[in-house]
Amino acid sequence: MDVKCRRLEGKVAVVTASTQGIGLAIAERLGLEGAAAVVSSRKQNVDEAVEGLKAKGITVVGAVCHVSDAQQRKNIIETAVKNFGHIDILVSNAAANPTVNVILEMKEVVLDKLWDINVKASILLIQDAAPHLRAGSSVILISSIAGYNPEQGLTMYGVTKTALFGLTKALAGEMGPDIRVNCIAPGFVPTRFASFFIDNETIRKKLNERTMLKRLGSVEDMAAAAAFLASDDASFITAETIVVAGGVPSRL
Ligand code: NAP
Repeated sequence: MDVKCRRLEGKVAVVTASTQGIGLAIAERLGLEGAAAVVSSRKQNVDEAVEGLKAKGITVVGAVCHVSDAQQRKNIIETAVKNFGHIDILVSNAAANPTVNVILEMKEVVLDKLWDINVKASILLIQDAAPHLRAGSSVILISSIAGYNPEQGLTMYGVTKTALFGLTKALAGEMGPDIRVNCIAPGFVPTRFASFFIDNETIRKKLNERTMLKRLGSVEDMAAAAAFLASDDASFITAETIVVAGGVPSRL
């Protein structure tokens, strides 16, 4: 990542689900702009992510955090506070899409998992972080273009991502004026999460064609939007969703 600006000097960022994909790229971008970062995921491979980021000159610590585990959520916040004293940027990035079933055939246990990980865990994490967020802090929720169009294969997952648009607005009202809350809605990005769609050459071509820019998104595209929202360049932006999807239809 070739990053020239240092808008986040002195800030501390916590990013969930950040050992690969969009979360790792966000942690890297925030770090390269000067923030100290806390990276996390469900597994101990968090150590690899930490080493990789340190090698790029980033101040970073890791914590194992399955976002639906209350103790591990507390632990990631405590890790940030113990190492860096406070938090300025919180990126809630974890999500699950355990099935491509239609909603009418979705088992209750799957509905619970989608709600738990994609929506409830974000709320509980923000509750845990709130006492440590300094004035001027920025909370960023990672939603999806599927939140605007919960299409086949992404139906109930998409509905949980729609909920994040509402959550963004509701929390921005509660947490202002000192804290901004915004959301990013990525289009398709080739990551492990999207491999079910992207690995199929025919689907991949269709997804490319659907964008006005005739390409899929990159993790760096998403990270750039997160760094902007986290920075003072976005100091009058709150309760908003930035769609980073190459022009795929979302809203007027
Ligand atoms: P990814 O490359 O598959 O990475 C997922 C990351 O999340 C990994 O670090 C994984 O590590 C961690 N993780 C998974 N479940 C977790 C949990 N319950 N608690 C904590 N960490 C967890 O996925 P991605 O594509 O970057 O997706 C990141 C976010 O972008 C998600 O919110 C997704 O909905 C959103 N998004 C993605 C796309 C896309 O096309 N890729 C499009 C729109 C929105 P472990 O396995 O070690 O836990």
